[in-house]
Amino acid sequence: MNFLAVNYHYIDEEDRYPRGIYPVSPARFRLQLRELGKFFKFVGQREILEALEKKRPLPENCCAITFDDGLKSQYERALPILDEMGIPAIFFINGLPYLERRVLFVHKVHWCRAHLSADEFFSEVRRHYALLSGKPFNFDSFAPVSAAEIEKLYPYDDPEEAHLKFLLNKSSLDLELREKIIDSIFQSLVASEEKFCENFYVSKQQAASLHERFYLGWHGYTHKPIALLDSRAMESEFKNAKRVLLQVTGDSRAKFSAVSFPHTFTVSSEAAQKAKTAGMKFGFTMEKAFNRTLKEPVLFARLDANDISGGKQPLFEIKDGSLQILSPRLRRGREAYFQEI
Ligand SMILES: [Zn+2]
Repeated sequence: MNFLAVNYHYIDEEDRYPRGIYPVSPARFRLQLRELGKFFKFVGQREILEALEKKRPLPENCCAITFDDGLKSQYERALPILDEMGIPAIFFINGLPYLERRVLFVHKVHWCRAHLSADEFFSEVRRHYALLSGKPFNFDSFAPVSAAEIEKLYPYDDPEEAHLKFLLNKSSLDLELREKIIDSIFQSLVASEEKFCENFYVSKQQAASLHERFYLGWHGYTHKPIALLDSRAMESEFKNAKRVLLQVTGDSRAKFSAVSFPHTFTVSSEAAQKAKTAGMKFGFTMEKAFNRTLKEPVLFARLDANDISGGKQPLFEIKDGSLQILSPRLRRGREAYFQEI
């Protein structure tokens, strides 16, 4: 069996933002679907659940199209193409934008990066750090590695950009303070966070219509990396799922069947267990592999849109109706779910 899952984020014109946000264009999306369709049969939540319940096996070569983060551009730009081509999909939403009208941290970072050069971003970080902590900002105190090592970590970026990415993703800058700094910079760029939510995320009505079609899945409440949280925080990522769905659909019996773990290469059996306890029947990580079995279905592997035929660094191609694997790692099946983090 070759069960492939593909993941998309922003669907928009590829030159819309100078940096920070890297959309897949509707034209590329359509092309990728056409390519995939030459080898794979598309499946949605219904087919996957039926296979798990042993009612009907999945087609030998099948593909699920997924979208993370519940972005409005997915609904407005990708869904019409999917519908036109008769292809099902799963859209994974988070809770924070619906229950609190707040923008996820990850999107605040993307937005700030898209609207500020690395230089401007750094000077904003310096300013807000000083305002929030009362101390001058000193990059070296948050980076236990040399500048050369940082630049080696991000070989495609110029030094300033590499340092910024390091600061945002890998530095020892206190997580809470990091969020506060980004939040302050974000607030200075947008008129209203609530309004931003309305324009940026799938609306309640849109989410309700996705749910009605069995196209909706759960991506965590806050978008934190679930496997890295402590046990209680892990549970709380699932706890509000039903409340969000109730608010979106007005139906107290509505529930999610599928989860997409945010941010992860990291998986853990505890995170998988919490997902199952919360009622999730299957889910996706970002382990780059084909799924050869339905074992441990809450931790299915999934490729990014860049990893597939028509993407920026394809790991496979479809030629004359057959699958050509370009990366040896794809010959192996899933492995991460056997490992503990
Ligand atoms: Zn996400």
